[in-house]
Amino acid sequence: MATTHGLNGEGQQDDGERKWSTPLAKQLAEAIETTGPIPLASYMRMCLTADIGGYYTGALGEGRDPFGRTGDFVTSPEISQVFGELCAIWFVAEWMAQGRKTSGVELIEVGPGRGTLMDDMLRTIHRFPAMAKSIDAIYMVEASPDLRMVQKNLLCGEDAPMTESKAGYHSVCKYGGLPIVWTETIKSIPIGPEKTPFIMAHEFFDALPIHAFQLVSVPATQSLPRAANDNSAPSTKTSHPTLQWREFVVTPTPPGSTHDSLNTPPTQSRLFPPPDFQLTLSPTPTRHSLYLPELSARYRALKSTFGAGALLEVCPDLALYAADFAARIGGSALRPKPNPSGAALILDYGPGDGSVPTNSLRGIRAHRRVSPFSEPGLTDLSADVDFAALAEAATRASEGVEVHGPVQQADFLEAMGIRERVEMVLRSGKLTPKQEKVVKGAWERLVDRGPGGMGKVYKALAILPENEGRRRPVGFGGDLVDG
Ligand code: SAH
Repeated sequence: MATTHGLNGEGQQDDGERKWSTPLAKQLAEAIETTGPIPLASYMRMCLTADIGGYYTGALGEGRDPFGRTGDFVTSPEISQVFGELCAIWFVAEWMAQGRKTSGVELIEVGPGRGTLMDDMLRTIHRFPAMAKSIDAIYMVEASPDLRMVQKNLLCGEDAPMTESKAGYHSVCKYGGLPIVWTETIKSIPIGPEKTPFIMAHEFFDALPIHAFQLVSVPATQSLPRAANDNSAPSTKTSHPTLQWREFVVTPTPPGSTHDSLNTPPTQSRLFPPPDFQLTLSPTPTRHSLYLPELSARYRALKSTFGAGALLEVCPDLALYAADFAARIGGSALRPKPNPSGAALILDYGPGDGSVPTNSLRGIRAHRRVSPFSEPGLTDLSADVDFAALAEAATRASEGVEVHGPVQQADFLEAMGIRERVEMVLRSGKLTPKQEKVVKGAWERLVDRGPGGMGKVYKALAILPENEGRRRPVGFGGDLVDG
């Protein structure tokens, strides 16, 4: 089918089909032509993890790597091994503070990228043999088959076989011969009251799809149209203007669009083709606009605080993952855990003051900000992480957990001893002057609180077994325990 959606009345019909910038763009345009505009979350999910042509699932093609100087972005574990070492120390301190379990410990990482962070963590944990011995298994939640292989090669060796079972993909780690299991979602990892899960999430939550909404004032007596396909919402009439949420949906840009005609903002590079798609506000309620903004008192308060025009982003998957972490650590109504244990450490970027993220969807390509709608599948997409929503979902899901933070990454890393660790590396006498410069530069970047650094923009949040706030974890205002 010719994908000419959006041509209506524009008089630009040409004799050929519209050329889409990627195969995924064509597929998305065809889906929109059939079903109508799609929620931003559906667009994001397809762009990042579609079976064919998603950013993390094959669009980049063999040999192209999202990470590093020649890729699209750089992450903290790729900047400095000290980052992963300090995360490991944080888990070791928790393991000690929770009574040094001798078995049932598992390491879980969601979104492990190249596997660098897990590698640095395992190397460090193996300096604490009692903890290393307590680990039963390592689980890696990874959507990308390519990155799964990269992780396997790093953690198990290029020659190590990988086998497939109903549970996932399996191999054996070079550290202590521990079994590693790869799954595509966290749901596939078994849960048990006797388990002590230590869960790491670095730059994972920012890759989860978001819905975006805006509050609009609906004039009095206008009858509220029903959401498409929704028979449950009664059609109502209002006697006074009401504030209602409308969802941002994705539609194709007009054919022949250019960066100029679309007013691509100066913050976005014009080096790549003009966007195939754009965001528009749905004129009528959608299935999601009727319930997602009502789920939390924080969202509902926006009506009185900001009124018409207020923006809101909601990430349902973030709440699912946070609730899952919490239930594993603290138990849940469905799966009680008499003795909560384990911990989750989440590092990512987003507001740390409890405000909801707005306008935070971004496209990244070759270390530049680009339109999130340019070359779908080839552009990395991410959004600010709503740490308050994370905390709320975790504490709602389990009475057995408490949440600490978010604190700025710089504060967390400094409390974990980044300065001392870097100084130790510098004093070792093993580095060339050039290497010394790299180590110092990396450290500065991780804790730099300026707009270009990662110290303030990135935050750390911890989910721990409930202890009435008596013991603050290290890095969040607590002390390292002896030992
Ligand atoms: N933590 C790593 C990688 C961050 S990039 C680092 O800091 O370097 C995001 C990672 O999450 C990638 O490994 C990507 O493949 C994975 N990912 C993205 N969306 C996912 C999803 N929905 N489910 C599972 N993994 C996902």
